[in-house]
Amino acid sequence: MPMEHFDVIVVGAGISGIGAAYHLQTLCPDRSYVILEGREAMGGTWDLFRYPGIRSDSDMYTLGYAFRPWTEAKAIADGPSILNYVKQTAAEYGIDRRIRYRHRVTAAAWSSDEACWTVTATGPEGEAVRFTCSFLFMCSGYYNYARGHAPEFAGREDFAGQVIHPQFWPDDLDCAGKRVVVIGSGATAVTLVPELARTAAHVTMLQRSPTYIVARPAEDRFANWLRSKLPDKLAYGIVRWRNVLFGIWFYNLARRKPAKVKTRLIGMVREELGPDFDVETHFTPRYNPWDQRLCLVPDGDLFAVLREGRASVVTGQIDRFVPEGIRLQNGELLPADVIVTATGLELQVLSDVAFSVDGAPVDFAKTYNYKGMMFSGVPNLASAFGYTNASWTLKADLTSLYVCRLLNALRRKGMRQATPRVAGEDLQPVPFLDFTSGYVQRAIDRFPKQGHRKPWKLNQNYARDLMALKFGSIEREMEFSNPVTAQAQPVGDASSLQHGRAERESTSVEQPQPTRAASMAHHGP
Ligand SMILES: Cc1cc2nc3c(=O)[nH]c(=O)nc-3n(C[C@H](O)[C@H](O)[C@H](O)COP(=O)(O)OP(=O)(O)OC[C@H]3O[C@@H](n4cnc5c(N)ncnc54)[C@H](O)[C@@H]3O)c2cc1C
Repeated sequence: MPMEHFDVIVVGAGISGIGAAYHLQTLCPDRSYVILEGREAMGGTWDLFRYPGIRSDSDMYTLGYAFRPWTEAKAIADGPSILNYVKQTAAEYGIDRRIRYRHRVTAAAWSSDEACWTVTATGPEGEAVRFTCSFLFMCSGYYNYARGHAPEFAGREDFAGQVIHPQFWPDDLDCAGKRVVVIGSGATAVTLVPELARTAAHVTMLQRSPTYIVARPAEDRFANWLRSKLPDKLAYGIVRWRNVLFGIWFYNLARRKPAKVKTRLIGMVREELGPDFDVETHFTPRYNPWDQRLCLVPDGDLFAVLREGRASVVTGQIDRFVPEGIRLQNGELLPADVIVTATGLELQVLSDVAFSVDGAPVDFAKTYNYKGMMFSGVPNLASAFGYTNASWTLKADLTSLYVCRLLNALRRKGMRQATPRVAGEDLQPVPFLDFTSGYVQRAIDRFPKQGHRKPWKLNQNYARDLMALKFGSIEREMEFSNPVTAQAQPVGDASSLQHGRAERESTSVEQPQPTRAASMAHHGP
């Protein structure tokens, strides 16, 4: 059976993969593509996470796609509404028909001879399924779907109640009337605590150290008013830009004047919780704002349950789990019927797919990241990775746009291979992410590096990226080449046989693009 060939394979049908498909079919309509999705459903994060209260922690005017307005009243939206938005987008543009579910990609091998990837996936019956493609676009998210980060707690098996990780929330778990301890202080913990406190006997948020927590209205009144006056698309565009610019301004302010921003953020918590609450211990982080992601709480719901005494916060170190709950190192016992380990995600680089280029395994830690999406020395591969200081989709959208520009440039030039290559010796490595958060630090050694200068430096700034990726040079430190395949060599060409692999032309001379049939001729059954 010949392998199926596509011009582009998109891996993952989450918010990024569906956005990538929209861009491909809009900007490269003559290119064939398929989405390979490992799970049985689309939506990624927004389908996987089912814990009570699951919601966005950035606004939907920027987490939504540039091309499709978010029209619901809530700016901080619940998980099912976001999933619905992704599904509706896929249905509206016929993208849902292009998804192959239960196809988990495990390996991708680039052949310069053939200028294509051979992509191996585990199919619905556990069988190996192979495809080829000219370009591979990884939209596989950034964390392990099979397991969350679960630190070892001594005595875990002694605990008489249930221990739950939010990534695998059981459908039938009922916390009504129970004492719940939520371990963690990140976005998941601050979402769960007020939600569980509605019915639980009591909820304790147990944190090792505090996080910056900011209350924002769940509904954006200005946005809702504007939508009642203007067409959806126009209103969406205006609110989106307002939020983007505010986000950039605030982030820069936090980096330039951390002490001032810290005082203001903590002051806001004091206003919420009143003078008697120990804000110093529980809500004063040891790091500066935006050294880690800020946590947003809609309508101050977390503060409300703390004020009402339905939940409490404890800052301390766990000694061990005991049958009746958790013992802290200071000897205090936190009684619990249910313990939720909101201890975070396990980060992954490109879904841990085994990549190789001409038989040599790719170690992404040894590559430089190009424009936040491609990798030095790795041809025709891009990956959607969103912002850490703004909504993910802002960057994912721009990444898709740039990939389409690159595909069109390849076609225009009659070239088949685009490989980012570092020019000169001056490039200095910089960690890919500058967050001090545990989940980032645990994984950063496996990530590619960024460089200290363009086009290897991450902007983490939508306005700059928009200029760079929509209008900026496609050529800079990008090698366009046409592999000359062994079959394309004159028969009996001794040198090509001797070297066992194709030589590459690396010119900008216009050459005819090989037809798909011609490029497929190399893929035997
Ligand atoms: C609880 C939670 C809340 C969040 N809230 C926000 C927020 O408010 N704002 C924000 O900007 N970001 C938020 N994020 C980050 C969030 O993950 C992104 O915003 C966004 O949903 C990522 O979309 P994605 O499509 O890139 O990745 P994902 O949503 O992770 O989707 C990836 C898809 O690829 C599939 N896949 C992965 N590997 C393979 C493979 N090898 N083969 C085939 N398929 C594969 C997965 O099954 C999945 O369907 C949140 C994350 C979490 C966990």
